[in-house]
Amino acid sequence: MKVLIAADLHNFEFDDVIDIIHEAAPSIDFAIALGDNGHKLEEFADLCQENNILVYSVLGNHDYENYHDNVIDVHGRIEINEATNTSIVGCQGSILYHSKMSSDIVMTQTESLEFFSNLKTADIVISHDGPWLQVDSYGHIGSQGLTKYIEDKKPKLVFHGHYHRNESYMKHNTLVYACYGIIIYDDIIDEFDVIWEGDF
Ligand SMILES: [Zn+2]
Repeated sequence: MKVLIAADLHNFEFDDVIDIIHEAAPSIDFAIALGDNGHKLEEFADLCQENNILVYSVLGNHDYENYHDNVIDVHGRIEINEATNTSIVGCQGSILYHSKMSSDIVMTQTESLEFFSNLKTADIVISHDGPWLQVDSYGHIGSQGLTKYIEDKKPKLVFHGHYHRNESYMKHNTLVYACYGIIIYDDIIDEFDVIWEGDF
């Protein structure tokens, strides 16, 4: 399974890698957008549509609902990618860290625990925020609900954005990827190829 990932593009240009994406497109099974891509989500979705690649997507804490045309919104619902027989579920936004944040997109820890307890088991979770980090770093606290879901439902993979870094780690039996920029992930050879990364 090969997955094209876009995370936290924040309206930055990715023109330099468009040719790479076109070249890789025939081998890509599907794409995921992990939020905070701003208006670049539309460009990314168009590029995928041109290449017949479905995009499963969640919004980031800086996004608005109207960014979500042309993609499959999986916030709170499971979609099956039939080509790979893979179930995908998502969670938008982040944990609330500022009282003025839009309440439609962010959750408190209590709300995140409730949200994830209502989700059925899926192979892949795509979430803007990551698992709970157990540290109180402003805006980057992580979701207790997602952590509990990983513990209880044991998804194979979790992809998340929000932290502006690329790394992978195991949480219980789940492989978690923090994603930033544009990445091609291949689960067969476990290759996580960062083809574009912002610097902000
Ligand atoms: Zn974010």
